[in-house]
Amino acid sequence: MSLFQDSLKNQNTMTVAWELVPGKGAREKSQDRVLTSAEKAAKDNKIHAVTITDNPGGNPAILADYLGTEILKLGIEPIVHFSCKDKNKHQMESQLYALDRSEINNLLVLTGDYPEIQDDERRPKPVFDMDSIHTLEYISKMNKGLEIKGRQGPVKFQPTSFFAGAAVTPFKATEAEQVTQYYKLEKKIAAGAQFIVTQLGYDVRKFHEVLQYFRINNFDVPLIASLYILTFGAAKVMNQNQIPGCVVTDKLLRQIETEKSEPDKGTEKRLLRTAKLYAILKGMGYSGVHIGGHNVAYEQVKYIIDKGEELSVNWMEFVSEFNYPIPRGFYYFEKDKNTGLNTDKPVKRDKLPLDAPVGGTYRMSRLMHSLIFLPDKPLYKVMQSLSKKFDGSSLEKPFHKLELLLKVGLYDCKDCGDCALPDLGYVCPMSQCPKNQRNGPCGGSYNGFCEVNPDKRCIYVRSYSRLKKFGEEEQLRGSHIPACNWDLYQTSGWKNFYLGRDHSAVSAAEIKEKKNLV
Ligand code: SF4
Repeated sequence: MSLFQDSLKNQNTMTVAWELVPGKGAREKSQDRVLTSAEKAAKDNKIHAVTITDNPGGNPAILADYLGTEILKLGIEPIVHFSCKDKNKHQMESQLYALDRSEINNLLVLTGDYPEIQDDERRPKPVFDMDSIHTLEYISKMNKGLEIKGRQGPVKFQPTSFFAGAAVTPFKATEAEQVTQYYKLEKKIAAGAQFIVTQLGYDVRKFHEVLQYFRINNFDVPLIASLYILTFGAAKVMNQNQIPGCVVTDKLLRQIETEKSEPDKGTEKRLLRTAKLYAILKGMGYSGVHIGGHNVAYEQVKYIIDKGEELSVNWMEFVSEFNYPIPRGFYYFEKDKNTGLNTDKPVKRDKLPLDAPVGGTYRMSRLMHSLIFLPDKPLYKVMQSLSKKFDGSSLEKPFHKLELLLKVGLYDCKDCGDCALPDLGYVCPMSQCPKNQRNGPCGGSYNGFCEVNPDKRCIYVRSYSRLKKFGEEEQLRGSHIPACNWDLYQTSGWKNFYLGRDHSAVSAAEIKEKKNLV
């Protein structure tokens, strides 16, 4: 029996998860505050679970998994944030076994924020071995009982019972960022996501947009909205894009600034604002809310729930109070003039301008691809027989060196051997994306630019724009690209492709499908 999971199944219940941030250290006030808050929340069933962040902002903190075991003993379910930034697949698997053994089943699977420089003045190695889709897929396999090849034949492990969710952000400014976010959402749901939590924003038309996206695609997965009790300090930091993926517009910041001069420094206003947003989200059909905020007291969360429930009967009245569009921002659906929300009619995107320039390198790459990487082309057979001939021979190294000469010059190739250039509009995820994302953007891009390298466009803005130029942006949708196989590291990507050793060893039928790249 899970209060959290059961409440999500109950249409009449607005599921509430309260986000708690454990912080750095092991026996600090911040950990005590988390446990005290969880204890209070466990006393009544208004809050169905508490979520525990995993090194938020890329800063090290106590392991969420461990604090989760203490919280479970307090009588309330933890939802452990499980991110990809600091661990490879093996560490993930070990942690998942430990979580399963500790009967912690609720997970929020995230890409995670880029590791930050800390007290030792050194940035730790970003890992990102798997992305959230690979992780969800693996958890789904574990839930069925993992099967591996043992020395004496197949070995089957006990099924786990994880209830794993993922995140989506509807608060993106550009078409490329937003559409590729939704493409990635589809892959997360296909990989087994059992609930989805939105990123942070205050534009209710955007909250409604992702709900409409769920409806037109018949996603039978609960959608939970992130609510943040926004102080002026937090609003300023988010407005300056210092917390990846959290959007506070200038208009909202100015409004909160005026509230700062109130005797209670705007506390009543911000709690009421959050309660009204709760009411709107309940009214429009969200399954729940994920409430966060800095040093929030249990009583404040309780107020938001009670007031939100009370106001939800007239939720439409409050819609106009949350009109915080990103200037010139992209909306996926046409606006509903009556409600101020969205119709279910997607905007016509083919006439919209590209979000990134498409230069000669890509045109040349397309031509090269059409000549040597499509099975029905003569050069494909030549390259394939050369790969067979050179494989393991003394000519393999010069063949590989020639490949690197070209690919480092054109794409800053990192020699992973499991090349994803053809999948992503000839943008290399290993060199151009600090989080090596192969299946869609992380949530941190801002106005089309990268969370980690703000002077560079997000690779999905570049690849989407390149493919859209030729009417092929849907190539970024559909089945996901497997995680990079490090067994191929520093081996020839060309050879691995032609000999069917890399992730693109797909059926001739699919390669034929790619034929229309010409
Ligand atoms: S390139 Fe895009 S997906 Fe990669 S880290 Fe930057 S914002 Fe995220």
